[in-house]
Amino acid sequence: MKMKIGFFDFAGCEGCQLTVMNLEEELLQILQLVEIVEFRELMSGTAEQIEIAFVEGSICRPGDRERLQRIRQRSKFLVALGSCADNGGVNALGSDRTPEVLRQQVYGSDLPHLYTETPQALSAVVEVDYRVPGCPIDGHEFLAILQALLLKQHPELPSFAVCVECKLAEYPCSFDYGQVCLGPITRAGCQAICIDGGGHCRGCRGLIDNPRTSPYHQILEQHGLSVEEILDQYRTFNVNEKSS
Ligand code: SF4
Ligand code: SF4
Ligand code: SF4
Repeated sequence: MKMKIGFFDFAGCEGCQLTVMNLEEELLQILQLVEIVEFRELMSGTAEQIEIAFVEGSICRPGDRERLQRIRQRSKFLVALGSCADNGGVNALGSDRTPEVLRQQVYGSDLPHLYTETPQALSAVVEVDYRVPGCPIDGHEFLAILQALLLKQHPELPSFAVCVECKLAEYPCSFDYGQVCLGPITRAGCQAICIDGGGHCRGCRGLIDNPRTSPYHQILEQHGLSVEEILDQYRTFNVNEKSS
């Protein structure tokens, strides 16, 4: 019998769901193994029980908490899809303001049906079993995590930093161009795509486990950059994460 999976969204840009839909050929193969029973962007169906719920977005609107709790009750596994769901992502940039101020600043007027609470990660409301990091997620990492769950294995995320993938690909280092880069402390898995594209890493995949911050401080000093400059970049996706 095919495993039932569902996709759900809260506050976010839907870019992570779009990444899944863009898998196209792989998606057709996946459909031989799983039954997608709920996916608002593709279909209108629903199901009572779901094996895996992939949930995108942050919790910040009326009814979000209750809806997420119902999804949790119906699902065997709940997977946070993308940084908005995983740690609040860019939505959490508003977490230092009251919902009233946020509504005023974002929409220019007080729209009471939006931002009724400070944007939060899913884990602030329910237990999250697994996560697919990134803004947006990496499609192939999503497939690898789904494959592991289908095989009843625990999906593992890379435990090393983006710098490793960047150096293996022999991309020029952003620091040599005077740009702050979060690659030394950010979890790998994106193949350093932003550096490949001529940019720098802003840390959308979150911190690696046990980041070695003191060598990182030395790199900053060598390039005449301050901790404040790095924290400015770090906050973009990681307001809710601790830093040191
Ligand atoms: S993590 Fe990024 S791409 Fe995904 S929904 Fe949030 S803002 Fe969009
Ligand atoms: S600091 Fe950034 S650009 Fe430099 S090697 Fe690491 S990931 Fe690549
Ligand atoms: S390079 Fe950094 S910002 Fe870009 S996708 Fe990878 S983790 Fe995210």
